[in-house]
Amino acid sequence: MVKVSDKEEHSERNKSRFLKSMIGACVSTAFLHLLLAIFYFFIDVPEMLIYAAISFFLFLVWSYLFKNKWILLPFILSSINCTIGIILANYFIGWESNFNIYFMVLPAAVFLYPNWEARYRVFYMIVLGFAYFIVYLIFSDFKAIYLINSQILQYVSMLNSFSAAGIMVVILLFLNSSILKMQTDLENKNKDLKYKAAELDDSLNKEKELGQLKTSFVTTASHQFRTPLAVIQSNAQLLEMFNGTGKKIEPVKYKKVSGRITGAIAKMTGLMDDVLILGKLTSGSIQYVPQEIDLVEFCENLVEEFNDVKADGSHLNFVIKGEPYNVALDPKLLTHSLSNLISNALKYSIGKKNPDLTIDFKPNELVLSIKDYGIGIPEEEFPKLFQPFFRAKNVAEIKGTGLGLSIAKEYVEINKGQISASSLLGEGSCFEITFKR
Ligand code: ADP
Repeated sequence: MVKVSDKEEHSERNKSRFLKSMIGACVSTAFLHLLLAIFYFFIDVPEMLIYAAISFFLFLVWSYLFKNKWILLPFILSSINCTIGIILANYFIGWESNFNIYFMVLPAAVFLYPNWEARYRVFYMIVLGFAYFIVYLIFSDFKAIYLINSQILQYVSMLNSFSAAGIMVVILLFLNSSILKMQTDLENKNKDLKYKAAELDDSLNKEKELGQLKTSFVTTASHQFRTPLAVIQSNAQLLEMFNGTGKKIEPVKYKKVSGRITGAIAKMTGLMDDVLILGKLTSGSIQYVPQEIDLVEFCENLVEEFNDVKADGSHLNFVIKGEPYNVALDPKLLTHSLSNLISNALKYSIGKKNPDLTIDFKPNELVLSIKDYGIGIPEEEFPKLFQPFFRAKNVAEIKGTGLGLSIAKEYVEINKGQISASSLLGEGSCFEITFKR
């Protein structure tokens, strides 16, 4: 499909190139004949005067016909006209007339003619060559009928040669400019094609990744949902059992069982929320609305919120480095990413030294780091850290869904930032978000 339209475009371009060259050539030939007609008027050669005057008008008409893309007829007519001109000039003025030079122009034109197959071009060239041969060898033998001052004739010959060369130059210039245009067009198309190929490659890779992700996602998600469902089911059965005994259930027991059910429901709701966010992320429907924010104030509020709800004495330290400046970021996305990293830092370092949130205002970028001194991440599991549902071996006892980090990473990237992590098992972890200024 692409090839066909390219071919059509190419032949269209060829045609317009030919038309422009032919119109240029016809107009210049017309004016040359006007000059010749004036010249023949002065040197009193009536036959050539009439021929030159008729040719002047004919070439004007043909240039008009070329404009209307009535190509073949004007092309052949102008060939015939030139041939008649050559014969007449040889007959009345002698071979010195130098009209024969037109045989250079016509074959040149046929090279450009886009509508003929190669065999027609060859045929046309043979006919022209043959005519040239006859005219030059036979008609040039004619004794000139008019005796013209040889000095003047020299000037006419010169004019003729220059004009023919001029016509050739006109044709070649058109040809050259259209070739240059074609070349730049081609280069642009090439660039476009390369760009599109890269884009295609990119989306193919993304599609592959997405496919793999979906498969593992479905497996892990169903597994993750099954655990709280099993908790709900077993505790509901327990309630039914208590009910079946006919005895009054002890409030402590009742609270324990119902607490388990509410806990499982809360877990499922949290999981559902995260899965929904992941779905939005994959479909690209997360909105990005950046706005100028005072990051110091923004982080102070966030730290305060976390520290307010922590009842176990642990809290987050807040450190500012460098000279603060405002930045354009989406506050909702940033809140979500930072909250996840902070809650992880607190969650995975219970009983250890308090974690730190640091903003480092560097001249070209700002780095937000959340450093904790907790359990750390096993080295061998580190590459999977940002994958959905990843939970390291050492966190089995601590509640979580394994979705927070993958969402945080996506949110940071939508916010035009980058996230990185480093960790030592048993010593702590550090997550860094970098935004270019
Ligand atoms: P969740 O915390 O709900 O399990 P996340 O996506 O937030 O899910 O984190 C994925 C996993 O990465 C965690 O289960 C844990 O194994 C590891 N992890 C993340 N943050 C930390 C941290 N600060 N310290 C130790 N391990 C962490």
